[in-house]
Amino acid sequence: MTRFNDYYKNYIDGAWVDGGAGRIEVTNPGTGAVLTEHALANASDVDRAVQAAKRVHESGVLTTLRPVERGRMVKAMGQYILDNDQMYAEMLSEEQGKPLWEALIEIRGAARYFEYYGNQAETVEGKSIPLGDGYIDYTVYEPYGVTAHIIPWNYPVEMAARSVSAALTTGNTIVVKSAEMTPVTSMIWGHAAEAAGLPKGAVNVLCGYGHEAGAALAGHPDVRQVVFTGSVATGTRVAEAAAKNVVPCVLELGGKSAAIVHDDADLDAFERDIRWGIFFNAGQVCSAMSRVIVHESRKNELVDRAVAIAQSLSVGPGIDRPEFGANMGSMVSEQQRDRALGLIAGAVDQGATVATGGHALNIPGAFLEPTIISDVTPHMTIAQEEVFGPVMSVLSFKDEEEAHQISNSTEFGLVGGVFTKDLGRATRATRAIRAGQIFVNEWYAGGVETPFGGFGKSGYGREKGREALWNYVQTKNVAIKMS
Ligand code: ADP
Repeated sequence: MTRFNDYYKNYIDGAWVDGGAGRIEVTNPGTGAVLTEHALANASDVDRAVQAAKRVHESGVLTTLRPVERGRMVKAMGQYILDNDQMYAEMLSEEQGKPLWEALIEIRGAARYFEYYGNQAETVEGKSIPLGDGYIDYTVYEPYGVTAHIIPWNYPVEMAARSVSAALTTGNTIVVKSAEMTPVTSMIWGHAAEAAGLPKGAVNVLCGYGHEAGAALAGHPDVRQVVFTGSVATGTRVAEAAAKNVVPCVLELGGKSAAIVHDDADLDAFERDIRWGIFFNAGQVCSAMSRVIVHESRKNELVDRAVAIAQSLSVGPGIDRPEFGANMGSMVSEQQRDRALGLIAGAVDQGATVATGGHALNIPGAFLEPTIISDVTPHMTIAQEEVFGPVMSVLSFKDEEEAHQISNSTEFGLVGGVFTKDLGRATRATRAIRAGQIFVNEWYAGGVETPFGGFGKSGYGREKGREALWNYVQTKNVAIKMS
């Protein structure tokens, strides 16, 4: 077991401080045990953090640096993360419920963002625009200033890493609002900033309630850009608050993403996609493969294979089982688990069949059996609403057009997939599916390098990839009349 201190603080203007709203208990969802307490920020803490970040921005200390130097600082933050990966992975496993090996993937994945973006600090170049004789015209990209990062609990470190790294690379300053269920590992940002030699106030980290600290941050008049990952309902509120200050947002919201599996698909290979696509992080992944739309001729075979995979997983408290193998942790809370159970019960009421799973485990902690639901039809609630748990719905189709229609029949559009040996079918699907990223023959293909974001209610703006750097800069055009 990891040894937690009794209490963890927020990080404002280079100091570890108590919260104006008191403290919150942090629980291990894999055991139900209280791990520690964390400072809870109120609106005036948020204001102090924003003012510190604003002061650093206005001092020019980051913006006047030669970009390669800023990039080195960003990469040094990544190095700090790698140097301490085991410690943070253990804490993450206990506060979030994921197995230790998954937590290590997350922590190392977080470091990778700092390497990727840090390397690009000196590549954010403007353009020269010809205006005819007597003029010189060029563009420069300037940072917004104070950026707000409102973080979810499913990947508390990695979700912050992807926006913090890009925002710092481009010379912005940072206020992170961690999720109240998983705040402890977010101290990584204060320590990494110190290790990298960033000025005090450049990076601030707060835990606080969404409706209090989160709302105060999203609506703060000195915040110039907001990044939010979470639910559609909360994302809408964040965007409304930001809109009042005419501040741009990047919103990464939910998904109900579907894999279309054609009759010629390699189902041996697809087993791996099931394993990772819906059971990694106990299915608490916005881009999870939560629907599989399979040709009717292969439906029974696919369901049998999915059931076998679900039943092969060992489910339990993550920190006790460090081996890299078939293993799934708890969900983040009993409330989330019970919500998933409610959606499963609703599916059965509407005529679907639970092929395996569907129950809470009879042990302490927020565990849900790996669950496969078959005989799902497109209009059932389970086919429309995000479960955000280890629950895969299987639907079937007769022809390609129907498959595309079903894939597009939700309000979301985060990712989509197509599994076939036929390149024509695959490319038709890539055009037909309305989603921000399409996987052909491997769910989760891609990486830090590939842009990620949603169509429809899955949000707007892109994170990851080179494209994301442009979330954090605004274009300034300079037109010079030569005398
Ligand atoms: P969930 O409902 O799945 O817990 P949310 O989307 O509500 O997830 O939460 C994601 C993040 O948004 C968390 O850090 C949470 O504290 C924060 N949050 C919640 N409500 C608000 C709000 N009104 N304004 C800003 N942030 C919020």
